[in-house]
Amino acid sequence: MSDTQDNSPTILWHRRDLRLRDHLPLSKAVERGAPVIPVYILDRTSPEIEKPGAASLWWLHKSLVALKEAYEEKGLPLILRTGPAAEVLEELAKETKAGALYFHRSILPGEEALEQTIANFCNSKDIECRRFRGETLFDPSEIRTGSDTAYKVFTPFWKACLEEPEPAEPLPIPHSIKAAETPPASDNLEDWALLPTKPDWAKGFHEHFRPGEEGARQSLKRFLNTAVSNYKKMRDYPAVDGTSRLSPHLHYGEISIRDCWHQTKAAKPGDKGGEAYLRELGWREFCYHLLHHWPDMEEAPFRPEFASYPWKRNKEQLTAWQKGQTGYPIIDAAMRQLWQTGWMHNRLRMLVGSFLVKNLMLHWHEGRDWFWETLVDADIANNSAGWQWIAGSGADAAPYFRIFNPVTQSEKFDKEGAFIRRYVPELKDLPAQYIHAPYEAPKEALEKAGITLGQTYPHPIADLKTTRQSALDGYEKVKAANEENE
Ligand code: FAD
Repeated sequence: MSDTQDNSPTILWHRRDLRLRDHLPLSKAVERGAPVIPVYILDRTSPEIEKPGAASLWWLHKSLVALKEAYEEKGLPLILRTGPAAEVLEELAKETKAGALYFHRSILPGEEALEQTIANFCNSKDIECRRFRGETLFDPSEIRTGSDTAYKVFTPFWKACLEEPEPAEPLPIPHSIKAAETPPASDNLEDWALLPTKPDWAKGFHEHFRPGEEGARQSLKRFLNTAVSNYKKMRDYPAVDGTSRLSPHLHYGEISIRDCWHQTKAAKPGDKGGEAYLRELGWREFCYHLLHHWPDMEEAPFRPEFASYPWKRNKEQLTAWQKGQTGYPIIDAAMRQLWQTGWMHNRLRMLVGSFLVKNLMLHWHEGRDWFWETLVDADIANNSAGWQWIAGSGADAAPYFRIFNPVTQSEKFDKEGAFIRRYVPELKDLPAQYIHAPYEAPKEALEKAGITLGQTYPHPIADLKTTRQSALDGYEKVKAANEENE
């Protein structure tokens, strides 16, 4: 470095971008030439910052361990701090006499204001503040309809995205990263107590996932080598490993969305499965686009008339749903998959969602909150959009009259009951013809399989036919409210 160059360190603020590859702020920090101080801040106080649920905190702990190791391999420590992000960064900049602060921008509601506060502080102290886009393939504020509004429907939105210039090629991990001579003090990760204890209900998660950048890379590799070509056909069958399972990795930015995009395209150019997969990444883009333009989407129905839907309250039914004790095997298997692995197959998210909001008529907020606590991939944009979609109140929502029947869906997507048997072992000896609706099985078949309804497996907590009708009556009220407002 020449004598004239500024050697004051660059603080690199990691947020939901826990990786070294394709990390533009990191590459730019290295290019600046001064020592780099990577920091992650656990902010439990700033109202603008999202507060992960319990399963997501488990993931965060493991992901930070992986990021710390990746930096250590490069010869520098990852600094961990707690407190309000803006204050911590200000303090750290003072402590280290930093000359620059680089980070990825966030699309989350409110975080833009926080970023502006940080930029203002940097400005006042003559610290160079650079913010980079990277959470999505396309900038959600730049995708606009012909009449210059935000999109509310997925298909034209995705078409508009595909007309944009191709996302940039991913950047490699910097060859070397200059460390500070005297790095600032760091918290001990263990002291943050992110992992559940007493009981450790997340103990089974690691059998299904490997948090961190290397785990993300392996998941994508497995998917591209074994499943992508059949993705279109097999993505709906929960017993099959037919999807990428990248959602928690993408949520924490352990792999960049551009990387997924380019690796998928390069693996099998023109492959139909690959195209279908890229379209699913498009749904993620769409959810982020919606959240960017409708920041209250997490709370308020996208279609305001849905505020008049006659939601019910029933603690007992909610608990039965959460614990996988509804008496509908596919629903119970799905809810137990969520509890045991921290993840649930997309088709099943739709089925358990429909059962909760349409058959039980419980508010979609109840489902959103349970998912938020128990999913390792819990994500404000995808979760809120998913629940609003299923409730019928979302932007590009399922038509209100579409109520999934858990029995016919189970017969279609888990024909032999392989998935049910995996997660509801008390039904494992029931022949496939009865496993989807054990309450309709002949007495002898139940006896032979060792099942006593009401004892070893619950009776259904709701009747599908009558609850379906109640849901439709509820939607008539929504329609009436809408007509009144017109
Ligand atoms: P793949 O099929 O391999 O898809 C690849 C990626 O595309 C996913 O990792 C995800 O980032 C994105 N994606 C796929 N489908 C969707 C979709 N419908 N909406 C938005 N992005 C999508 N996804 C989350 O990441 N976090 C959530 O909190 C979440 N909550 C949901 C709640 C409900 C009620 C519903 C119906 C869906 C929800 N989803 C959520 C979307 C979807 O179910 C998951 O992204 C998907 O199951 C993750 O598995 P995968 O990585 O194997 O997906």
